[in-house]
Amino acid sequence: KISLPAAIFGRRRNSSGLDLSNEQRLAELATGLAAGRTIAWSAGADGAEAADPVRVIVNPADRADRVGTVVEATSATIMAALASATASTWRSVPAADRAARLERAAELLEDRRAILVGLIAREAGKTIPAALGEVREAVDFLRYYAEEVSKLDDAAHRPLGVVVAISPWNFPLAIFTGQVAAALAAGNAVLAKPAEETPLIAAETVRILHEAGVPRDAVTLVPGDGTVGAALVGDARVGGGVFTGSTGVARLIQRQLALRLDATGHPVPLIAETGGQNAMLVDSSALLEQAVGDIVTSAFDSAGQRCSALRILLVQEDIADALITMLKGAMAELSLGRPDRLDSDIGPVISAAAREGILAHVAAMRRSGYRVFSIPPNDTCQTGWFVPPTMIEIPDPGVLGAEVFGPVLHIVRYAARDRDRMIDAVNALGYGLTFGIHSRIDETIEHVTRRITAGNIYVNRNIIGAVVGVQPFGGHGMSGTGPKAGGPLYIRRLMAQHPGFDER
Ligand code: GLU
Repeated sequence: KISLPAAIFGRRRNSSGLDLSNEQRLAELATGLAAGRTIAWSAGADGAEAADPVRVIVNPADRADRVGTVVEATSATIMAALASATASTWRSVPAADRAARLERAAELLEDRRAILVGLIAREAGKTIPAALGEVREAVDFLRYYAEEVSKLDDAAHRPLGVVVAISPWNFPLAIFTGQVAAALAAGNAVLAKPAEETPLIAAETVRILHEAGVPRDAVTLVPGDGTVGAALVGDARVGGGVFTGSTGVARLIQRQLALRLDATGHPVPLIAETGGQNAMLVDSSALLEQAVGDIVTSAFDSAGQRCSALRILLVQEDIADALITMLKGAMAELSLGRPDRLDSDIGPVISAAAREGILAHVAAMRRSGYRVFSIPPNDTCQTGWFVPPTMIEIPDPGVLGAEVFGPVLHIVRYAARDRDRMIDAVNALGYGLTFGIHSRIDETIEHVTRRITAGNIYVNRNIIGAVVGVQPFGGHGMSGTGPKAGGPLYIRRLMAQHPGFDER
């Protein structure tokens, strides 16, 4: 065990997760996975009516498994939620006390890990290691923002008021919790609109926050589709927004919020994290065995449904054949299957529509004459929305359009003299989230990492799984607004400075 000086890292420690080689822990996890109850959520006392719309949530790996139902928000419940958030007195709870309640919620999440992992696997189709990673990250976000707010001078900042947090289905626990924890730490009342595909894990998290002492009016779940998000964002009582999802939706939200001014006369702020066309460059000096492992993890973990996932592999031509052969071998070893089984490497994608979209892209690439390699689907894949990991050779990054959110890796061979042109072609796609380089030449690493535009750059490792407080996560250009999640500036964007506070 390495102990790092508290003076550098503070008193906080990141969650240590779960040791899957420990039989007792594994048995506890198995109990949680087997719990498999059906969940029904409704706003209940907050004004839901019997006639309100109900959404049925079905396991993306197994269409026969009904995970639960959620009563979605209507104009009446949205108005009730806005009114109670506006009247919330959470802002007058001292920062240290707010932090203590978030830390309590972190403990509760860790205690209920097995149940949460089971629910993430069933509702979002994530594999057990990925679901365990989510619980860890959610715990880290709670503790990190609790610690960050404790460091600030309470007198110099005030909350924005009511903050709307709109989160994605690909990290239904971690990103949901990260957004809510930051906004709560800063003293805001939060209206949390989870992705329509994953409201149940969000409901479970809100229950835990309430149990930890966060008042009901300080965090309210407002489930539904994009129309619910739009109604919230369009309300004049909303003082700030946090959004993770597509670039197109982020633009719509930004436009709407920018039309209004906050109490200090600035446009209502938005933190948006959106997509990426993330690349990795592997030059001829790279250690291929290591690169192959990192490529497979980066491109196919979570069935490629991460904003940080690898989409474009730039391979120096001298080693391209060897690398591609090794990659095919590694891909053939991947097992596609039910996410609640420990021997599955890749679970399903989130929905039928997602699957259609990804397969349509692969078909279009095939029609363009590009070489496609996929691992063959197996019998388990009949029950859900599985897409086999796929590799497509393309001549240039410029042939790609928008991000395809699934297990599809594009490979581009480059000659040494064209390296910078390839990097410029990736930059020209307009995103700038993650980037990786595998090389054993320091000058190349230095040059390439300076030339690429990306928020998170990884050297000789995979490009996913940024760690809270250590690798703040966020991008440039079409990938987001910043400040980075899990970094020190994030909660400050969710606060307004007192008028009269000297900004100099
Ligand atoms: N923070 C995650 C990672 O580093 C990605 C988040 C996302 O997909 O939005 O892998």
